[in-house]
Amino acid sequence: MSTQCPICGEIFCSEHFDKWWNENKFDWINYSDKLIQHCSKYFDIWWNPDKFNWITGSWLLPLYCSQFFTKWWNPNLFHWAAGSWSLAQYCSNYFEEW
Ligand SMILES: [Zn+2]
Repeated sequence: MSTQCPICGEIFCSEHFDKWWNENKFDWINYSDKLIQHCSKYFDIWWNPDKFNWITGSWLLPLYCSQFFTKWWNPNLFHWAAGSWSLAQYCSNYFEEW
């Protein structure tokens, strides 16, 4: 499994992220949400708006990646129905942007 760490065996291991991360092999459809929850500190390395699953992951972006708001924010791709509450709760300081 491409999400398993070869060093410690953890799935979505945040400690050895660089050892298992493979943008092309990653199952973006099913695991975009897990990627945010476990590896948000590596956001700059893995972020790809074209591959990211906006339907399942939109609400997690404000929660785990509010500090990267200006990098991921896209009003056309953001899943408003599922993520509006999260946006209001965690990204209120960017209110003018959205
Ligand atoms: Zn590991």
